[in-house]
Amino acid sequence: MSKEQILKQYFGYIAFREGQEALIDHIVDGDDVLGIMPTGAGKSICFQVPAMLYDGITIVVSPLISLMKDQVQSLIANGIPAAYINSSLSANQTQKAIENARNGKYKIIYVAPERLDVDEFVSFARSANIAMVTVDEAHCVSQWGQDFRPSYLKITEFIDKLPKRPVISAFTATATREVKDDIIKILRLKQPFIAATGFDRENLYFEVQKPKDKYQAVIRFLQNNPDKGGIIYCATRKTVEQVCGDLQNDHYNATRYHAGLSESERTTNQDDFLYDRKTIMVATNAFGMGIDKSNVNFVIHYNMPKNIESYYQEAGRAGRDGTNADCILLYGGQDVITNQFLIDHTSEQNELDSETLELVKEKERERLKQMTYYCHTMDCLRSYILRYFGDRSGNYCGNCSNCKQNFETVDILDYSKKIVSCIYRMRERYGVQMLIDTLRGSRGEKIQNLHLDQLSTYGIMKEVPQSRIREMINYLVINEYIVLTNTEFPVVKLGTKYKTLLDSDQPILMKVVRESERAQKEMKSGNSKSSKYVGEIDQHLFAELKGLRFQIAEENRVPAFVVFSDATLLDMCRKKPVNKDDMLAVSGVGEVKFQRYGERFLKIISQNSAVTANVGQPISADSAPSIGEICEYVKRSFVPSVEAVPVSILTDMLNSLLLQKGDYKLSAIKLTNFFMKKGLLQPENVEGKGNRVATELGKEHGIATVERTNSAGNAYRQNLYHQQAQQYAADHIEELIGGI
Ligand code: ADP
Ligand code: ZN
Repeated sequence: MSKEQILKQYFGYIAFREGQEALIDHIVDGDDVLGIMPTGAGKSICFQVPAMLYDGITIVVSPLISLMKDQVQSLIANGIPAAYINSSLSANQTQKAIENARNGKYKIIYVAPERLDVDEFVSFARSANIAMVTVDEAHCVSQWGQDFRPSYLKITEFIDKLPKRPVISAFTATATREVKDDIIKILRLKQPFIAATGFDRENLYFEVQKPKDKYQAVIRFLQNNPDKGGIIYCATRKTVEQVCGDLQNDHYNATRYHAGLSESERTTNQDDFLYDRKTIMVATNAFGMGIDKSNVNFVIHYNMPKNIESYYQEAGRAGRDGTNADCILLYGGQDVITNQFLIDHTSEQNELDSETLELVKEKERERLKQMTYYCHTMDCLRSYILRYFGDRSGNYCGNCSNCKQNFETVDILDYSKKIVSCIYRMRERYGVQMLIDTLRGSRGEKIQNLHLDQLSTYGIMKEVPQSRIREMINYLVINEYIVLTNTEFPVVKLGTKYKTLLDSDQPILMKVVRESERAQKEMKSGNSKSSKYVGEIDQHLFAELKGLRFQIAEENRVPAFVVFSDATLLDMCRKKPVNKDDMLAVSGVGEVKFQRYGERFLKIISQNSAVTANVGQPISADSAPSIGEICEYVKRSFVPSVEAVPVSILTDMLNSLLLQKGDYKLSAIKLTNFFMKKGLLQPENVEGKGNRVATELGKEHGIATVERTNSAGNAYRQNLYHQQAQQYAADHIEELIGGI
């Protein structure tokens, strides 16, 4: 079989992406390779396709257990025999897996690096035909990277023990030169073919917000994007607890993840998110390395991460299936301080000697600076990131908050002089807030006690809003007129260039968001910019396909994206296949998946087109329909799904109709509250806490509360809405949207 045939038949894709083909060709020719590709670019295909072309077995070394499980599930769903061996298996299961491997049952075996010096595994590998060893997340071998793992150093020892040296292929998303050199050296790659693909991810929208209230910024985003799911990253466990708790209290379908939770809770929560039972994951950066969920619609950073590498990697978990997704960073000054503190007090790298440690810290401080700069730059955010990674890029991408907003350039020379002289008069002894308070003539107690109100610069910038002064201070810091000390409570001091400024009459040009834009932005922020393409898709069909996917995923106990990715369902909506050939032309549908699920999806698509053909008038663009008309339309057009669906999908189904007529949109919470009000659902226990479960009346109307167990063996409850309950919601649509 050719590599193209394998790509089509097993993975359902028509063409290779940038970089994939060359890497595969070299591997097949027996060369070592190093693939440097950003998250989501499609590294897995690069070793999975050649693995199918080789006679022998491919061993994939991968650092995280969750990654292995997902990847193996996906491979099996595509009809490729694969397995994983790691500490999540019992001794018995491990033995069984190795026995199967000996009998040649697998083409691809994922292992954790710790496994590479376990006798049982080594003896199997020595007796088997190992064609290739693939090192995923290869930057883990380098202590310059942020994820150094000593166990990765076992890889070469392991390879040395094999009777015949296999091809070695290494993959990473980290591109700095030191890391690259380390990978080649430490893994002893032989004249490797190196492919580094562009780091750009066009489908990601980037935005930096500096909200007064971060939580409210999150809520605004979620309200504007009720049907989307994603990750909210926080800097600390405490923040995770707080944000997740608040979201749950506000009835959002959120769960949490951080290293302080028990192993079983982590597994449960992670599964809930992967399997779309929970739509929002609030987590520290402990979550996600190796999370292969392809349908993450947004990644919000509640705090600024410590460097651009981490940011791009975490943000890059959005939109991996190529659909539009939002990456939003909520910046606050405190984030810089927290990160500085973490760098100074880190003990994570205590295997290093003190000199190296100091060097590493120095680099980290530098990286933090670059990250902070990202939050303040007025330039295109995407080009900022790409340049950081050494990619060339234009100055304007049109798909980031800076490119989308209108800027004006103002001369801040006079203000800069005022700020600098105030710092001077304050004797370089105070922090940013005190400086701002003095400049604005605050009557605060502290200012008076310290006699700062006696200074000649007290109140000289009364008329300037505090946020604008802050922007100017940041600008002056970035341009080295002034500096912030590297202490827990940073103090503002004069920089090397301050004197030139005082004597200068050259304008200092700073780009600022126009005042009118700012006001608008406050109102709109959170509005998903990526939603603009939604209109082209038949949302009702999309919702139904999601419903079926959910059903199949539940039956097979796999995450929904293992069945089909969002990108694949969207392609079905576009192509509306009517037979097997059409279906195989859909991106992401291969032979095996067609055999397993193809007919069920075809059936839904054909039912759907029969229905939409009968639904009266299409909406004319220029006459805005009244609420009454919209409700009539929904009732007339609503077709309940034969499968029982969870509330998120029922919401999608209703929204797909609402959005065809106007701007009304429901959320799952709204729907749940409605059913509560109608007495169809009630809280599980008396204090009003816990899950909502069906009442007797609810059961009569077609709501079933079912008990399920997740892969960690924990029980949880879920409400499923049968046809009758779905229809009930549609019939009460006036009441439902009445409260919008
Ligand atoms: P990463 O580089 O982060 O490991 P993955 O290998 O997980 O990325 O791929 C990301 C997504 O892109 C997956 O859903 C994968 O199936 C899809 N993908 C990979 N290669 C192609 C291709 N040639 N055509 C279409 N989709 C692809
Ligand atoms: Zn841009």
